Amino acid sequence: MGNQASADQSFIAFHRPSIGEEEIREVEATLRSGWLTTGPRTAQFEEDFAKYVNARCAIAVNSATAGLHVALAALGIGEGDEVITTPLTFCSTVHTILHVGAKPILADIGPDGNIDPEEVAKAITPRTRAIIPVHLAGLPCEMRPIWDLARKHGLFVIEDAAHAAGADYEGVPIGASPRKENEPASDAVVFSFYATKNLTTGEGGMITTGSQQLAHTMRMLTLHGMSRDAWNRYTERGSWYYEVVARGFKYNLSDLQSAIGIHQLRKLESFIATRQRYVEIYNRVLGEVAEVEIPRDRPGSRHAWHLYMLRLNLDRLRIDRYEFIEDLRRLGIGASVHFIPIPRHPYFGKMSLGEQPCRRALELYPRLVSLPLYPAMTEEQVLYVANAVKDLACSSRAPARTLQSMAV
Ligand SMILES: *Cc1c(COP(=O)(O)O)cnc(C)c1O
Repeated sequence: MGNQASADQSFIAFHRPSIGEEEIREVEATLRSGWLTTGPRTAQFEEDFAKYVNARCAIAVNSATAGLHVALAALGIGEGDEVITTPLTFCSTVHTILHVGAKPILADIGPDGNIDPEEVAKAITPRTRAIIPVHLAGLPCEMRPIWDLARKHGLFVIEDAAHAAGADYEGVPIGASPRKENEPASDAVVFSFYATKNLTTGEGGMITTGSQQLAHTMRMLTLHGMSRDAWNRYTERGSWYYEVVARGFKYNLSDLQSAIGIHQLRKLESFIATRQRYVEIYNRVLGEVAEVEIPRDRPGSRHAWHLYMLRLNLDRLRIDRYEFIEDLRRLGIGASVHFIPIPRHPYFGKMSLGEQPCRRALELYPRLVSLPLYPAMTEEQVLYVANAVKDLACSSRAPARTLQSMAV
């Protein structure tokens, strides 16, 4: 019964992917080609993606989770090490730190919702080996102070860019490799092509890096730790020969998925342009509504607008976020929340993670509502959502009495 609304044609789902005839034809051609797993289309997708973000190397993987795991493993992070990340992220950022045997350390968010570099500085200990900033919603983190800290303390930086394909930080694409020797950059940047992300292959991901040596290790780890060097060295023994040189994973991306990615990548700029246009509509309608706060942007950088994370001003409302989202559902609008803070999950809460100070993330969480934002929406639908949110916020205004007593 509860799902009746989503079956309705007029229901505005929280997300729908934009898959066109180009993707469908390429998948069909891949099926007919006889080469389904990692092959020529994945090689092309890697090359195209590297070019798009100005990266020296790109390694396709079957998820961003796999990409984060491989990057941590390839950098030799493990038992006894600490890795600093944000409490306001998807669980897999933290899972992958645990998968390599390291300890996740949460550094609280700043006013923009991204990890606060000052909190990162406070969290550094002699055991710290790496920092994983997350570009939440597609808003680039303040990277300069993070790179400065990494350089000062000899730490690796792995960016969780699951939301950030197409974003740039101060004019440089997220995922770009340094053009000069001493230019600051992260060791690895990991993108997600999960079904709801800005660019999708259904499931998939990409790692970019400026280090050819690291790229080589990561690529080897994505395919069972098999060495291509050995393969080259021993080709005279026959094409069946390979050597396993590390404890590898099965994290490669198939050509069926890369077939989709090649065409999604070509459309990414227009997808982001549409997202930006829709964000302007939301901002115009909701910017003047005192009961809500519109998402932050970073002037001089480019937001990928993966998500439109509205903040409720709960002290001005007589309903909470749960009711707000339920009311939107009744109005035919799917909304969501990004994210339940890491310490709020029972599994992480039971670990010492629950005791780590994440006051700002925990305070922000009850205010968060992500509105639908994707190119498959029509402008009319965006306007409908914007006005419905405005009307709901205004009709749910807390009585003046309450406001007065709060002001005292
Ligand atoms: C989606 C997401 C991931 C995981 O991506 P997958 O490709 O599904 O593994 C990691 N981090 C963040 C912030 C995400 O939103």
